[in-house]
Amino acid sequence: MSEETKKQSEPTEKQLKHWKQEKELIPVMIRMYCHGNHGTKGKEVCEKCRDLTEYAEFRLDKCPFKVDKKFCSFCKIHCYKPEYKDQIKAVMKYSGPRMITTHPVFAISHVIQMLKYKKQ
Ligand code: SF4
Ligand SMILES: [Zn+2]
Repeated sequence: MSEETKKQSEPTEKQLKHWKQEKELIPVMIRMYCHGNHGTKGKEVCEKCRDLTEYAEFRLDKCPFKVDKKFCSFCKIHCYKPEYKDQIKAVMKYSGPRMITTHPVFAISHVIQMLKYKKQ
């Protein structure tokens, strides 16, 4: 593949926008969950939640759907190992609705995708 063709096939900033946003906000949502459920405070998270954060970031880095990404919750293949899948589901259930006050645009786009997903 020529350098020119490679450049053309690289995703644009706009196409990666949702992927980057999810990568930025997943740690925020896990921390929110940890504070509410595991008694941590400030920038602190418990060991289990730190492990989950690292795993979620690793999965996002390896994600084959980075371009115009949909939320992991609505992914058909869901690449998470079962134990992490259950943990992240609990995080989404707890932190998702709470994001309305801190990150309303993100929270609303999550709801819109959920409605589209349920219609499929
Ligand atoms: S669950 Fe799906 S969208 Fe999320 S990181 Fe894995 S493959 Fe990508
Ligand atoms: Zn925790």
